[in-house]
Amino acid sequence: MRQVPSDLEIAQAHKLIPIKDIAASIGLDEEDIEYYGRYKAKIRLEVLEKFRDRPNGKYIDVTAITPTPLGEGKTVTTIGLTQALGRLGKKAICTLRQPSMGPVFGIKGGAAGGGYSQVVPMEDINIHFTGDIHAVGQAHNLLAAMIDASILHGNPLGIDPLTIMWPRVVDVNDRALRQIVIGLGGRENGYPRETGFDITVASEVMAILALTTGLHDLRKRLGRIVVGYSYSGKPITAEDLRAAGAMTVILKEAIKPNLVQTLEGQACIMHAGPFANIAHGQCSILADMIALKLADYVVTESGFGADLGMEKFMNIKCRYSGLRPNCVVVTCTVRALKMHGGVGNVVAGKPLPEEILKENVPAVERGCENLAHMIKIAKYFGVPVLVAINQFTTDTPAEIEVIRQKALEAGAEGAYPITVWADGGAGAIDLAKAVIEACEKPTNFQFLYPDHLSIKEKIEILATKVYNAAGVRYEPLAEKKIALFEEHGWGHLPICMAKTHLSISHDPNLKNVPRDYIFPIRDIRASIGAGFLYPLAGAMRTMPGLPSQPAAFKVDIDEQGRTVGLF
Ligand code: ADP
Ligand code: MG
Repeated sequence: MRQVPSDLEIAQAHKLIPIKDIAASIGLDEEDIEYYGRYKAKIRLEVLEKFRDRPNGKYIDVTAITPTPLGEGKTVTTIGLTQALGRLGKKAICTLRQPSMGPVFGIKGGAAGGGYSQVVPMEDINIHFTGDIHAVGQAHNLLAAMIDASILHGNPLGIDPLTIMWPRVVDVNDRALRQIVIGLGGRENGYPRETGFDITVASEVMAILALTTGLHDLRKRLGRIVVGYSYSGKPITAEDLRAAGAMTVILKEAIKPNLVQTLEGQACIMHAGPFANIAHGQCSILADMIALKLADYVVTESGFGADLGMEKFMNIKCRYSGLRPNCVVVTCTVRALKMHGGVGNVVAGKPLPEEILKENVPAVERGCENLAHMIKIAKYFGVPVLVAINQFTTDTPAEIEVIRQKALEAGAEGAYPITVWADGGAGAIDLAKAVIEACEKPTNFQFLYPDHLSIKEKIEILATKVYNAAGVRYEPLAEKKIALFEEHGWGHLPICMAKTHLSISHDPNLKNVPRDYIFPIRDIRASIGAGFLYPLAGAMRTMPGLPSQPAAFKVDIDEQGRTVGLF
């Protein structure tokens, strides 16, 4: 592989195509889009009506094995595969989540791909973009303010302040705001109470934006948000607080999906960015619905590994959208498989351990158990599975070969090394051809569980089939709340498990395929507006903090006024 410049250098050296022309390439007229500068646009929702009678294109979900904290290249694969499909003369669109500014200035970095598989304009996408995250924050915080105002002004709904579950949000990794006291300073400022801030993308409003199918559905979902309980135990909703109408109006531009481009000139529809643990971690249903009307192939990414993101893609997103995938691509890397095979741990912010860079076929082979498990999960849903081996310079042919063999043994249709990071679309031609072929195969799509099962039955199916546990243990708090949620009539909702992405299990230290263990449920919470229940299997942070050397240290403006240091 040749020397590859930094992501930002590649993105800045790239000559962008005016967004008007990208829109035209997927059959959108000027009346279908709204410009946000020369290289970004929003797509009007009316296009769904305009193209209603068109058949949908093929729908491909990109997922991964259990990753290292560095990420194994799902976004890069999603974009690279789209570029490869374009090189084969296909009309392809990728749909992605919008990055949050928290991680951009924190540890992980951006989410617009990397190397020669990126979407651009990269700086805009990573910072502010078209303002959707701000709109989500505004809508969320308006509701928060209306709760405290209602309590101050005589508390007509009888809200019990100790039950309020609706914090404030801000799009910065600011751990100092995790737990705070508000309302200090006397009567004028309301009743003091303990609360906190989450990062904006952890807001239920973001999950709603990602799951909604239109403006009126958005209005209904916002109205259903439960913010706490009355003294008599009745759920208090955003509708009760008369906030949902105003929240919808705040979001009326944000609901329109954003159009950008890949480095090779394919359209990318980037919209919404919910968390992948306490929420479902997918770009919006609207982005996919529109893309499927405009392209022959739509490649989308689901967050984290197949046990989290892909499972939620199927059981939550597809349940609400009615859309069905034609194929799944499981991304893996030699380094992560070696880690699962017991060779050295990969820690964010630290150099890779020596052992992980040396050839070790037996370790890769052991780690392929994790890959095989992910393939098995994907196959439960009745769709063909392909494996993308995202190549790094240190990978050896023998290591690649053992992955290929193990993937086939596990029931994948094929496994293909890709070099999209170094080579762009040219690095995934074989994978793209295999995807085209796989999309012609018949599917036998099914959910893992029907709506009507009880909350516990659904959790147990996930624990045993997906997380490979022997059973489930519920802590008393979880027991109590499950019973309460069933009583409130929320038992029919799908489950959105909040667990670590660094293991198939609840414990980030258990690598590869943990077995013979009990999956613990500590608590369960409800996102009634979004439409899922999220059991907590471990502590979930909803407000990240900054490390001692945050990415923000490197970001600056150079003499020409260009951004530097953004990855
Ligand atoms: P994910 O979406 O799975 O979290 P990304 O696609 O964002 O992962 O990739 C994580 C990081 O690794 C990005 O900074 C990306 O540019 C980099 N990366 C991905 N694949 C490669 C590769 N083959 N070689 C070098 N760097 C890579
Ligand atoms: Mg990603």
